[in-house]
Amino acid sequence: LVVDDHAALADNLREIVLELDAPRSRAVLDGARGEPRGPSRGAPRGAIEVDVVGRAEAALSIARERGFDVAIVDVKLPDESGVELLSRLREAVPGAEVILITGYATIDAAIAALRGGAFALLLKSFRPEELRSTVEQALAKVALRRERDLLERRYRALVEVADVIVVAVDREGAIALTNPKFGALAAVDSREARGRDLAESWIVGADRPRFREAVAAVAIEGSPREIEAVLVPDPTRPHERARIVRWHLSSERGDDDGGLVFAIGIDVTDRRALERRAADAEALSTMGTLALGLAHEIRNPLNAAVLQMHLLGRQVEREVQGSDARASMRDRVQIVVGEIKRLGRLLTEFLELARPRSIAREPVAIGELLGSVIELHQAEAQARGIATERTATAIAAPPVLGDREKLRQVFVNLFVNALDATPAGGTVRIDARSTDGRVVIDVEDDGSGIAEADLPRLFDPFFTTKAGGTGLGLSIVRKILEQHGGSIAIRSRVGGGTSVTVDLPAA
Ligand code: ADP
Ligand code: MG
Repeated sequence: LVVDDHAALADNLREIVLELDAPRSRAVLDGARGEPRGPSRGAPRGAIEVDVVGRAEAALSIARERGFDVAIVDVKLPDESGVELLSRLREAVPGAEVILITGYATIDAAIAALRGGAFALLLKSFRPEELRSTVEQALAKVALRRERDLLERRYRALVEVADVIVVAVDREGAIALTNPKFGALAAVDSREARGRDLAESWIVGADRPRFREAVAAVAIEGSPREIEAVLVPDPTRPHERARIVRWHLSSERGDDDGGLVFAIGIDVTDRRALERRAADAEALSTMGTLALGLAHEIRNPLNAAVLQMHLLGRQVEREVQGSDARASMRDRVQIVVGEIKRLGRLLTEFLELARPRSIAREPVAIGELLGSVIELHQAEAQARGIATERTATAIAAPPVLGDREKLRQVFVNLFVNALDATPAGGTVRIDARSTDGRVVIDVEDDGSGIAEADLPRLFDPFFTTKAGGTGLGLSIVRKILEQHGGSIAIRSRVGGGTSVTVDLPAA
């Protein structure tokens, strides 16, 4: 962009500059493709385009509309001083360079030019080669700066956008850099994270020593390592929003002591859960085939056995002499009948789990359903001294989409589990609320709670801690919720009660 009101001189400048080949680096040419950037738009590779204007005003409007790489500006213009224009041009096109030319150089003019960030100040007696080489250098500088910006932009985009965690730590394990994915999982923004100890602040205690050791080893040896460690927003609450992360640790190359260790983490939590679920599903379907085949074979003898026990019981009442002997035989018969009934229950629940059946999809008044579940067990709860409660929001909860009977089964199972865990004087409470398109239901008790070691096994078929339990309740619950596009989460503390949260699509 040539800015000079002396038309003949301006044309002269233009001619000189046009003889140049624009230096462009490969990276910039690549980057320019499909990426509109003022001056290069439509310009043939390596050719120079020159705009000539006589006034500051016109120069500025070109700068704003098309941009420029290098401007050659006469210090004395009709509408404004070239020194003033200089700073306005640099503001309009950051990254461009401005060369000032003047007929009478004073020290003051030179200082003002340099202050304003001019690339060079040329006296009007300059030789063509002088101008050419100055413009050439300015163009090279602009191209270099563009290349650097582009590479930086690309690297930053890579780190920011990639769906992996990126953290850089120094040898002591203090954070130097984090990306947004880390910020999201660790619940911290990058500025707050800087300087803090990664392992101490965000890796769960159990994994911390191993993680530290691996970072230290990579810092010293320089060869990369892989390690799995759990990342949490707050290690004092290791189960809240914990993510299983596979870390790739590598060290910055070619640095003697100031080198950083890069930890690139992939969140494998969901993958692990899926693998587990796939394994469960496989186990369930194998069992299903077996169970369906055996069901009748087992149920019939069981029914026969119960019948025989009833007959035996009556016979005992009729024929056994002595009330003590009779009472003890009566007890034994009762125990056998009880056990057979438990087996029957096991069979029914097992079949429920194994049998593939489609579910209805209709609006189900969940508030009412929860009420009927509580009512069904009201007498039992009362007898055991347990208070039950359905919150106002539960009563008013909007309908969910699903199968009424299946959903009843879900909440009966959860409610009975809660009753089982609660001692006399305790409370079981059901709450429900709706949030954007979903209905969230909580079944809470203040009972025994669940041991930490048991938490991962709750949904395993046959996992039970109860003498008379089948361990199938939660498996059934999860299966039904999966069919409904719902989910379940269990939070519990030993001695601190249990809260089961179910999430279902609203009708
Ligand atoms: P079951 O009730 O037959 O034992 P479930 O699958 O319903 O089988 O539950 C599995 C186990 O989960 C229970 O044995 C119990 O240890 C634990 N559990 C489930 N719900 C609760 C709860 N609300 N409080 C304490 N423990 C629970
Ligand atoms: Mg149960």
